[in-house]
Amino acid sequence: MADATEVRRGTFNADPHWETFRIAVLVGLAYYAGARIGLALTFSPMPLSVLWPPNALLLGALVVTPRRRWWAVFAGALPAHLFAELPHGVPTPLVLCWFASNASEALIGALVFRRFADNCELRTLRSAVAFCCAAAVAALLSSFLDAAFVQLVGWGTTDFATLWRIRVSSNLLATLTVVPVLVTWSTAELDVRRHVTPAQLMEIVCLVAGLFATSIVVFDSGVVDSGIPPTLLYLPVPFLVWAALRFGPALSSLAYAIVVFLVIWGAAHGRGPFLLAAVQNDPLPIQLFLSSVAVLLLLLAAAVVERREAERMLRGSEELFSTAFRQGPDAIAITRARDGGIVEANKRWLELLGYPSNAQSLATLGEHLSPASRDRVRSLKSEPGSAQETEVVLTDRQGGVHVALLVIAPVQLMGETCHITILRDITRQRQAEKDAYDQRRQLTHLTRVASLSDFSSTIAHELNQPLTAILSNAQAALRLFAHEPLNVAEIRAILVEIAESDKRAGLLIHHLRLLMKKGDEEFVQVDLNQLVRDVLDFVRSEFLVRTVELKTSYAPDLPQVRGDRVQLQQLLLNLVCNACEAMDAQTHGKVMEVSTSHEADGTVQVTVSDTGPGIPADRMDRVFEPFFTTKQSGLGMGLAICRRIATAHGGSLTVLSRPGEGATFQLALPQVLPGRRLEATAHFPADTTSTATAS
Ligand code: ADP
Repeated sequence: MADATEVRRGTFNADPHWETFRIAVLVGLAYYAGARIGLALTFSPMPLSVLWPPNALLLGALVVTPRRRWWAVFAGALPAHLFAELPHGVPTPLVLCWFASNASEALIGALVFRRFADNCELRTLRSAVAFCCAAAVAALLSSFLDAAFVQLVGWGTTDFATLWRIRVSSNLLATLTVVPVLVTWSTAELDVRRHVTPAQLMEIVCLVAGLFATSIVVFDSGVVDSGIPPTLLYLPVPFLVWAALRFGPALSSLAYAIVVFLVIWGAAHGRGPFLLAAVQNDPLPIQLFLSSVAVLLLLLAAAVVERREAERMLRGSEELFSTAFRQGPDAIAITRARDGGIVEANKRWLELLGYPSNAQSLATLGEHLSPASRDRVRSLKSEPGSAQETEVVLTDRQGGVHVALLVIAPVQLMGETCHITILRDITRQRQAEKDAYDQRRQLTHLTRVASLSDFSSTIAHELNQPLTAILSNAQAALRLFAHEPLNVAEIRAILVEIAESDKRAGLLIHHLRLLMKKGDEEFVQVDLNQLVRDVLDFVRSEFLVRTVELKTSYAPDLPQVRGDRVQLQQLLLNLVCNACEAMDAQTHGKVMEVSTSHEADGTVQVTVSDTGPGIPADRMDRVFEPFFTTKQSGLGMGLAICRRIATAHGGSLTVLSRPGEGATFQLALPQVLPGRRLEATAHFPADTTSTATAS
């Protein structure tokens, strides 16, 4: 609460030393003035103050001051206390002891109040109750100390119990009177100070005038003496209630303080209904009367403000809902929980589901939902608690299909359980996503086919080898058939070789077809070691033609990864092709290293390094940008697509390079944890097409 007070009062940016000094001086002045007022409200001939404001001022100051500056409050109060007390002949030790008991009352009251109140402006019932309790506890406890000090010093003849009783009632009344004025008027959020209209000002003037008039007549004129009927005592009370009901705690506490002052002033000067109390030197009746009015008034003002705040918030949220309902971009309907019937629906709801704007009866939401969406919504409704959301496919009355985000929340409406259902049409968004996805797939495929053309001579060479072998083996076999006796063993060996060569050619064609195919993404568990071997095998002639020495290293027991085999092969082919091209200008020492590894962070990595010229530091990031190329016939899309493939697989593709010493590209993919299952994720339209992705 301390920091909130500080923010509200705008003291955060003030010079802290000046702020501390200001607090000390203000408290000192107020404390001294309070003591003077206390003396003025003393019954003569006995020096007995009915209301002693300094303690209450101290308590109020602690409530409105941040805790770290409390020392300044006490530092300011001490000299004022000495100034006020010492000239009256009170022994110095007792003066100091009184300061200790005053400080203890303020401290206890402030701690209890700040511990239990929810704001220090007495604007809630809880704060008002906390304040009354804090005031009572502080007065009860500190008065023990007060009375004990007097007894200890041996000043005066009053016994301990009487001293304690006098102090309790006097301190309690002072706290109930002074602190509310201080805390409500020192905070910025005041009813009275905020927007006072001329009419309200007029009302306040009438109120204060009426209060003064009745209080003076009842308590300060000779008209009424101690023999009046008790009902007349309550004449100012309607004005206090008026202040509480209409203007909240700030004005009601001020009005109450005025009454208290006039009551005590009258009695102290031999006038009003409490004259007898003054004569008998027993202010208890006055104190009891005033304290009980104070408590009632504080509670009333707080309750009224709290209720008004609650009503204002309720009105605000009602207005908010009604604006969102009528003008918001979403389709909203309130439906009955028991049968799904529409209680009320907004214009967007009618538009989305194809109803005319004057439609009288609407079909339930369930009737518009696809079966799968209906099941999903049903399971959402059965989940207890707050709002739930899901994506649904619905059909409007004209048969149009929409994809919508549905949010559903239970509400109580006139004792019946209902649901607020909000639909946001995301058909266009989903369509755009699907188009973008299709375009990406198309581009990936095209670049894959384009990169295969780079390998065309290698592939032709690779295919030629088994075909030539098949031909020469077949001719050899034919020649063997011309010799008698037939050498069956040799012919069998030749046929086995023919079959082997055929298999090799078949594998190559299969691989080529796979890479050329424009199939859907298919996420499966992949053994990266095997995938790397396949790719290197596929382009092995490339290394021979380009005189590149290939070094490989495969990590044993490599965990599997989740991915689309063709896309991952495309990625690796691109890295290998780039590495070969990077070393083209070299005449010797062309070495490519391909390795796999399993890292402690749970990733599986494939590293492709070469001994080419490397990549200058300023191009490190740019090589992944689309259309960045340094090659004459390059497209500049290879690495951009490779990185996107890596990201789409939940991994990354990075490069390290020392110019002049080659480049190292590193693909990192998350390993598949044992026992994890692949799941299907819906694409547009949500309930009909699905593509496999892993959890
Ligand atoms: P392209 O091969 O069509 O140029 P890429 O996106 O595959 O498109 O590569 C972009 C650029 O990155 C290349 O032009 C080249 O400058 C640089 N690059 C890629 N791989 C290497 C490598 N291993 N060594 C040096 N530079 C490389």
